[in-house]
Amino acid sequence: MKSPVSDYLREVLDDLADDADGAVADYIPELMNADPDVFGIALTTVDGRTHSVGNDEVEFSIQSISKPFAYAAALTDRGFDSVADAVGVEPSGEAFNELSLEGDSRRPKNAMINAGAITTHSLLGSDTEQRVERALAFFSTLAGRRLVVSESVCRSELDTADRNLAIAHMLRNYGILEEEAHAVVEGYTKQCSVNVTARDLSVMGATLANAGVHPVSKERVLSRAVARQTLSVMASSGMYDAAGHWLTAVGIPAKSGVSGGLLGALPGQAGVGVFSPRLDSHGNSVRGVKVFERLSDDMGLHLMDVE
Ligand code: GLU
Repeated sequence: MKSPVSDYLREVLDDLADDADGAVADYIPELMNADPDVFGIALTTVDGRTHSVGNDEVEFSIQSISKPFAYAAALTDRGFDSVADAVGVEPSGEAFNELSLEGDSRRPKNAMINAGAITTHSLLGSDTEQRVERALAFFSTLAGRRLVVSESVCRSELDTADRNLAIAHMLRNYGILEEEAHAVVEGYTKQCSVNVTARDLSVMGATLANAGVHPVSKERVLSRAVARQTLSVMASSGMYDAAGHWLTAVGIPAKSGVSGGLLGALPGQAGVGVFSPRLDSHGNSVRGVKVFERLSDDMGLHLMDVE
């Protein structure tokens, strides 16, 4: 849609297009095949209008951006109390794939790090197929189109999944996971390998921003309480170990992923999706972070700003 908003997004995209800082993730071999120059930005308002520029339709695997949505699905299916028995809500300040648990409860600290995300994935059904289908169906409803798993990314990650398997075994050791570790990691990896575009991310984010009502179909897909809980955890833990800096500098609940996607959801206003594969040392998309810094400054979007 051509509009003053898309003109503005085009200006931001053009200003940042030459920024080649950072490097594409390489710990999942298939991600190294991404074109590092691809750059797309999309914004969906809570009344359902999407404005997008650049490579807004290029597909990439959702990776960690699946985590808040899997958490929202688990809260919906299992209720707050049983999810809280399994996963906490405290920022970890540690690497996303750290083998660590909360001191007394032995729960993963939050659902945005792998230990917590593997646990929330396990709450989505009783076997791998059911869990993957629940995630895929829910992400598809949010995106407004049927999404699919990238088999090549999934295979590549499963071939090198020792770290996540170690986390799953640790979780089993403490009784957090009951399922067989390989089966849960396989399902979790499929969940992370679902292909999306920057436009999909903006629509998915707009549902969170719109208190759980899909901005286009107008269907309530999440309760208000689940949307609030998800946004809160994104605000405190969504940006790897740069979450505190992000909250102070940008002030928009967000989640990033190692393939270079970044999703932000500004309550009551809009969802924003950016795709640019080069990452900074925290694992966040370099140009993605800069897009959000610009949006936050230019449009006064910081949550803590008072008019
Ligand atoms: N599938 C990736 C992993 O578990 C997701 C990581 C991420 O995007 O942070 O290692």
